[in-house]
Amino acid sequence: MKFYLGNIMMKKTKICTKCHIKKKLCEFSKCNSNKDRLQCWCKKCINEANRKNYYNNFKKRTKQIKEYQEQNKEKFIKYYKNYREKNRDKINKFHKENYQKNKKIILKNKKYMKKLNIKRIYYLKLENF
Ligand SMILES: [Zn+2]
Repeated sequence: MKFYLGNIMMKKTKICTKCHIKKKLCEFSKCNSNKDRLQCWCKKCINEANRKNYYNNFKKRTKQIKEYQEQNKEKFIKYYKNYREKNRDKINKFHKENYQKNKKIILKNKKYMKKLNIKRIYYLKLENF
């Protein structure tokens, strides 16, 4: 009976391979490619990793775009003006939704942009040029 209980206990928890904390199964996301159909990392660790990744990518991309903008200032402003006029509603809608969803991260990004002395970042694909 003890063994049986122990077994059940084991099945209800899993150790996260990132933070090494034993957690309830509901704290792991599903993953069909794993034997137990759960991710190796707990939800908290995955969220944390995603956030870091997003922020690092943002930093990298911002630097790239800044350099590009400085090298092609006139072209950029002209293009952006044109783009904005054509897609005003779409852009406004996107910013509104995006801001509500990612308030925290946007504020953090703004701080970083301030540090780099960027007033505004144009979210355009470089391939568009
Ligand atoms: Zn974890």
